[in-house]
Amino acid sequence: MPAGPTADNLIAIARDQGVVGAGGAGFPAYGKLRAKADIVIANGAECEPLLHKDKRLMEIYPDEVIAGLMLLQEATGADTAIIGIKAKNEAAIAAIQPQAESAGVSLELLDDIYPSGDEVDLVYGATGRQIPTGGIPLEVGVVVNNVETLLNLQRANRGEAVTHTLISVTGAVKSPKTFWAPVGTSYRDAIEYCGGATLDEIAVVDGGPMMGKVQFNLDEPITKTCGGLVILPRDHYLVGRKTQPESQYKRVGKSACDQCSLCTELCPRYLLGYPVQPHLVMRALEFSGPQSLDLGRWGQVCSECNICSLYACPENLNPRDMCRSAKVELDRNGSAWSRDELAALTNDAHPMREYRGVPTEQLKQRLGLTEWDFPAPFTDEAPEIQQVAIPLQQHIGEATQPTVQLGAAVSMGDVIGAMEGDELGAGVHASIDGIVVDINSRIVIKGQV
Ligand code: SF4
Ligand code: SF4
Repeated sequence: MPAGPTADNLIAIARDQGVVGAGGAGFPAYGKLRAKADIVIANGAECEPLLHKDKRLMEIYPDEVIAGLMLLQEATGADTAIIGIKAKNEAAIAAIQPQAESAGVSLELLDDIYPSGDEVDLVYGATGRQIPTGGIPLEVGVVVNNVETLLNLQRANRGEAVTHTLISVTGAVKSPKTFWAPVGTSYRDAIEYCGGATLDEIAVVDGGPMMGKVQFNLDEPITKTCGGLVILPRDHYLVGRKTQPESQYKRVGKSACDQCSLCTELCPRYLLGYPVQPHLVMRALEFSGPQSLDLGRWGQVCSECNICSLYACPENLNPRDMCRSAKVELDRNGSAWSRDELAALTNDAHPMREYRGVPTEQLKQRLGLTEWDFPAPFTDEAPEIQQVAIPLQQHIGEATQPTVQLGAAVSMGDVIGAMEGDELGAGVHASIDGIVVDINSRIVIKGQV
């Protein structure tokens, strides 16, 4: 392995250049560089239906992904490096396999099921190690990073800050594309760059149909953690399901749940042996007080993957959001299970686990998404964005503090926000050339035309 920067240098570089988990969570990447592990995994599974950017990233920049993985391997001292990639992504495999082989990286070929890219699932599938309930991969000696995070780490190491994010925009747009969007680009501008919407009334799903958020405000910005936008009709089934108010899903759930337990039988966490049983969380609707809290604990370590609500339940009920509500209640009451209690309730993986994965194609059909799935080819043509609104907090941890004044002229890559002291977070950088015209929770930069 070639000599790279020292681990301390790389930690400072990753923090200052704004590298955060690009797979959705936004954990500052330097936190994982501090760890000592024996296995590092590049997560290229991209299991959300209709997202295409990770496979394109591995097709187009295989050398940079591998170089980023090598940096992570060196920093953590790991002796094994793996890339998780779906077997169906043949072009990405063909591009990355030669580079991987020469770097001693093995490929873990994954089935096309959801949620194969879930960190806990991936670690179990690739290493056979079961992460302790409520824990993180490092507890079993593994560090996982998304492939775009690794590419960003490699670029940070050669002096480039995170100013753009690779996204696919698909669904109801005239020309679906995968492209590098300046961080802070509005949904509106991203849609325009893809030829505009094909419908008048649209909703934007930011981050994938299963776990992403539905947004109606087209002025909202794209952040470093965005994996893609799926543009759907505003009255699409999925939009309705994902925006159901709490009062409604609780009322309907109370009257319609027949405790068939299909939600639990298909729950990926339950199938891995973890104490998650969404049908018991649904049963809590029959109770109040301590009994309700007791039952709510069966949703405490739910990953919020949405299989139970959007695929398993024959009544179209919403156990996922019930688990989410239960977590809030448990926090509020200080009555969550301890790590020891969770460990005592954890089993080996279920013997039927390998037969109960949810094929992505079936999921797309079930959600009415098949007709909105387009290839979104990659273009390296840079969109000309006239204004960006860059959030100061795009990561887990504390908000970044602005380092520029109103009216300042900035160039792409300039630092506009930095962390104070040792707080967990990452720097923020200008993603276009222009003038700072507003500073609040976002720094707004207007391009000079
Ligand atoms: S699958 Fe639906 S009806 Fe069956 S127990 Fe779960 S929430 Fe209730
Ligand atoms: S969202 Fe549902 S299926 Fe997914 S982990 Fe939570 S309870 Fe299980």
